[in-house]
Amino acid sequence: MGNTVKRLAILGSTGSIGRQTLDIARAFPDRLRIIALAAGSNAALLSQQIDEFKPGMASIESEKDRRKLKRSHCKLTTAEEIATHPDIDLVVMAISGMAGLKPTLAAIRAKKKIALATKEVLVAAGAIVTAEARKHRVRIMPIDSEPGAIWQCLQGEKNNVKRLILTASGGPFRKISNEKMNRVTAEQALAHPTWNMGPKVTIDSATLMNKGFEAIELSWLFDMPIDDIDVVIHPQSIIHSMVEFIDGSVKAQLSLPDMRFPIQYAIFHPERVPNDTLPRLDFLNIKSGSAENALTFEKPDIEKFPCLGLAFEVSRRGGTYPAVLSAADEVAVDRFLKGQIKFTDIAKIIAKALDGHRGISKPTLDDILAADAWARKAAAG
Ligand code: MG
Repeated sequence: MGNTVKRLAILGSTGSIGRQTLDIARAFPDRLRIIALAAGSNAALLSQQIDEFKPGMASIESEKDRRKLKRSHCKLTTAEEIATHPDIDLVVMAISGMAGLKPTLAAIRAKKKIALATKEVLVAAGAIVTAEARKHRVRIMPIDSEPGAIWQCLQGEKNNVKRLILTASGGPFRKISNEKMNRVTAEQALAHPTWNMGPKVTIDSATLMNKGFEAIELSWLFDMPIDDIDVVIHPQSIIHSMVEFIDGSVKAQLSLPDMRFPIQYAIFHPERVPNDTLPRLDFLNIKSGSAENALTFEKPDIEKFPCLGLAFEVSRRGGTYPAVLSAADEVAVDRFLKGQIKFTDIAKIIAKALDGHRGISKPTLDDILAADAWARKAAAG
């Protein structure tokens, strides 16, 4: 591979994944060049990032923020132009939620490699996105510790897979009683025991919806039936996931919980590169979550965390149901963060939206967008 320079666009550069991707870029100034950055609303941070990385292009959603980003060397444009620009080799897609769908499809059609952090894209429109990727011979590489772990375990192992074992930290409410679940606050839900992530995915981790989304994402990325994917609670987040093969052998991928590992793996794939800024795992002194130098495993409690069951059920039903799940979840999580609903209402709102939805079995992109819009209204209350 030599020392070829990779030219990156980061969509969602001011979010958690975006910032950590820039951390990787800082560690490899001779290998990674930031060509374009796109953000939603954090103009102040985007402005700093532009000054540090000097991209040729940048994008922000609101018109009034654009003035703050004026630089002679940096063209202001749209996320979609960035995603398809000829100067870009790899698009890091880290826009939160369904807003990531259109730029992802645009990047695929422009034959860009995609490192995808936005799992909602595959949850809502997995059939369409993976069909487009096959058609344009584009590789979609997951940026997340668990899908990234499965991907690493599957290297050189295309066949003979028996099941995927998806690990979950269990979130901050693993140990509290069922009765206390409806009194937990947004602040408690945002205090994740092992991972430092953006607010949407952190709440999704607390409800275990995030694990359901990952299972759906894996079913699309690796063409696995949803019922061949098992979720296991592993509170230390050291084993990031496992693959069991037909002979009973199991492969696992491990590291300390740090999102820069899957980001770096996706960016440099298939190359592995040394990076002294990443923490090393010391088996004799594991300090992660509640670990007392032990790795433990538990069965997930579907009654306490109904979102996980909903995600598997919706994946079996297919069609527009996963889009409704994803959109209703986005709205319900937002309402919880704003203090409008209780934590336990999140799953109830999503279940109600799914019950009221009349699914379409082989949806077009327009059908999915319509189901998404319908679910947002249904979940808004
Ligand atoms: Mg994850």
